[in-house]
Amino acid sequence: MNRSRVLKFLLLAVAFLACGSAVAQRKTYELEDLPQVPMDTIDTDRPNVKIITYTNNTWRYLHTDYSQRANQEVFQNHWVTNGVFAYRDVNIADVPETMEIELIKNLDDYHPPVLGRVSSRYGPRGRGMHKGIDIGLPVGEPIFATFEGKVRYARYNSGGYGYLVILRHPNGLETYYGHLCKLNVEVNDYVVAGQVIGYGGNTGRSRGPHLHFEVRYADLTFDPERIIDFSTGDLKYHTFVLERGYFNVSSKLTEALEEDDDMDGIFTDKNGTPLTSEEIVNNLEKAAAKPRPTVNDAIYYKVKSGDNLYQIAAKYGTTVGAICRLNGIKSSTPIRPGQRLRVK
Ligand SMILES: [Zn+2]
Repeated sequence: MNRSRVLKFLLLAVAFLACGSAVAQRKTYELEDLPQVPMDTIDTDRPNVKIITYTNNTWRYLHTDYSQRANQEVFQNHWVTNGVFAYRDVNIADVPETMEIELIKNLDDYHPPVLGRVSSRYGPRGRGMHKGIDIGLPVGEPIFATFEGKVRYARYNSGGYGYLVILRHPNGLETYYGHLCKLNVEVNDYVVAGQVIGYGGNTGRSRGPHLHFEVRYADLTFDPERIIDFSTGDLKYHTFVLERGYFNVSSKLTEALEEDDDMDGIFTDKNGTPLTSEEIVNNLEKAAAKPRPTVNDAIYYKVKSGDNLYQIAAKYGTTVGAICRLNGIKSSTPIRPGQRLRVK
């Protein structure tokens, strides 16, 4: 190793090990640590949402109807604050086959959890299952609430997540934010989309600083890339059709996190030796360039009176056979007005 490599390695090692130390902290992170003294309240164009500014140059959203929002029924049933899972008595068979989930009403009801390179996607991992998506980041990077909601869990998790925040949203979805270096919320806080809930890190079963992000319904995971385009950070739908078939049944079997079997070769070499930050960035770029699974192109059509499969297929430039395969029906199966058919 030449001198600059040694220096880089040392800096990286310090950043990896010393979450919370002065070296690993970013400027914003230090500002956040100063006492927050409210200075002013600013109106927003969203009803019932104001911004409070603080003397340490930070700000946060405030719901003026906080207690009304936080006391909705969805935050009362299955409200577990000391464990990862909250719906142990709910089986996949109890979940509707198709649900229309309103993700947002307005564009500012959403904020990407963090922008960065995807280092590991959702799906099977060796004998296990990667229950979320991993996004590489520098230690101390602010992590945002994707949607408004109530904090159900905010503590260190010894099952592999490290410092973990779980938010429940009014539509029943939950989002998980793992491996954080520091939490910025407490259980039962009510947060606005875009509020900083913690800072990215490397805690728990993690081989390098990254956010492990999950989306669940009734403790069941589905691929977060179904609703978020992580290359741009954009939300894909205002209203999303969640199908039972999207869920991974095994995601509910254990609270432990089976993390990152394919992180080998990204943060460490084959022998487990940490790589330089330059090498890590190269590896993350390579991982991001891998072909993306085409799970996100589903298009639905609501059958109108008088429609038949041939007309619908022609309209969407597809075939009757393809529509039948997507919906598990035969070409002779009658279709009825109001029925939702997947056409692509
Ligand atoms: Zn992960």
